[in-house]
Amino acid sequence: MSKTKRALIVVDVQNDFCPGGSLAVARGDEVVAPLNKLMLEFFDRNEPVYKTRDWHPAKTNHFAAYGGTWPVHCVQETHGAEFHPDLLDDPRVTIISKGIDERADGYSGFDGTNLAQLLHDEGVDEVWVGGLATDYCVKHTVLDALRAGFKVKALADAMRPVNINSQDGEHAIAEMRAAGAEIVGDQKKAAGAG
Ligand SMILES: [Zn+2]
Repeated sequence: MSKTKRALIVVDVQNDFCPGGSLAVARGDEVVAPLNKLMLEFFDRNEPVYKTRDWHPAKTNHFAAYGGTWPVHCVQETHGAEFHPDLLDDPRVTIISKGIDERADGYSGFDGTNLAQLLHDEGVDEVWVGGLATDYCVKHTVLDALRAGFKVKALADAMRPVNINSQDGEHAIAEMRAAGAEIVGDQKKAAGAG
């Protein structure tokens, strides 16, 4: 039996999604500590770690001002687009920039990126996914990873929701599970109720 090769995908732990940011997720910064711990474990086992980042142009259909849903956030080369200052910074991490296409939302780390190819090149069969936010970029990244044929562990302790509607986080968890993801950790936290 061959050993499972894992990769960790840290989704959008950026200033604008954390308290004080322009699209702050309540307690979004609480994902930093568990994700830092996991990154170190993955490095110790020589398993690959990816960080995605929302990396929008100043003008994009994703923003409310141009017909989209959201306030301006994570514009390329701004402070808000930088990773949270406490998130482990390490040269072994591969950064995946997404949301660059001004016509697309770019929620998923696989959308318009080479992430699936990089994972296949590394021989990865299982991805662990956490970050911000449960009900948007984490969910879409998880669903795309499943569609691309990877096994997925969704790290409930290490994600928090936007919760425009109070049940969105909970529904996102249910949707990820129904699609085949294994939900590990405290689901109340992932749904914003913990
Ligand atoms: Zn965005």
